[in-house]
Amino acid sequence: MSHYLGIDIGGTNVKVAVVADDGSVKAFAQRQWSGGEPHQLVSVATELADIVVAEVAEAPVACGVGCAGIVVHGLGVVRRSPNLPTWHDVKLAVMLGERIALPLIIDNDANAAAYAEYVVGAARDATSAVVITLGTGMGAGIILNGSVYRGSHGFAGEIGHTTVDMSSRTPCACGASGCLEPLVNADSLVSRALSHIERGASSSLDGSMGVLTAQDIGTAAAGGDKVALAAVDELGRALGVGLANITALLDPEVIVIGGGVAEVGRSLLDIARDELIRRTLRCREELPRVVPAALGPAAGVVGAALLARDEFPR
Ligand SMILES: [Zn+2]
Repeated sequence: MSHYLGIDIGGTNVKVAVVADDGSVKAFAQRQWSGGEPHQLVSVATELADIVVAEVAEAPVACGVGCAGIVVHGLGVVRRSPNLPTWHDVKLAVMLGERIALPLIIDNDANAAAYAEYVVGAARDATSAVVITLGTGMGAGIILNGSVYRGSHGFAGEIGHTTVDMSSRTPCACGASGCLEPLVNADSLVSRALSHIERGASSSLDGSMGVLTAQDIGTAAAGGDKVALAAVDELGRALGVGLANITALLDPEVIVIGGGVAEVGRSLLDIARDELIRRTLRCREELPRVVPAALGPAAGVVGAALLARDEFPR
């Protein structure tokens, strides 16, 4: 059994794992970081890599890196990243390669997570899949005919920045307005609940923006709180609009939904699925399956390692 090193770089966490060629995690380490300069990231990642590599007897064959942002896969360059605002045209493959003496590939973190769900997770029986991660932001990775589809310029999968409301003035992190992301991300779940409370609805929820979390809303919804249930319903319907757009464009076999917001309750996926059905003329058998992610927060490291496995087979 060969081993591969996987690194997942987000805006708040760096995760590193040794992953076997069957996708099983053999050693894992993570550290919170503030999304600082690239050289700080390289120090954190190599420190964590030393820890996990020492835990496994066999040395890894190669290293795969998933990084939040626009990544030029072939060049190993991170063009820019909304989560890492000081990063511009960072030659991350070269910087990490100087410290981690392994063949190395870099991809977008959503692509890495999607590849993991496709190879060993919720989309493993499919040949085409869209894997959405719904949390602070909304990202997606696209698998078409068994391969990651990255687009001509590395931008494919930015479903969160498709325009769904031309009259909206709600600003998005990308600078535009009317995007899907601010209608379905974690903050939107909280603000939906708070707006019901401001309009006089009674609720068990007690807190404000920045205090309440998406998980709080999910817990209250599970307990039958009407405001929380209304917020989940509204978000689910907005998500369903996104699913209908994905379906119209790509017609994938399966749409996988993971991330912190997806975990607020199975009903969210049911509501989104209902909205998808409502917005299409197709019968149910002709629609993609909508399923929860199987791999959880380790999907990014596992997928990065599996991408390295396929790029550098032993
Ligand atoms: Zn946007």
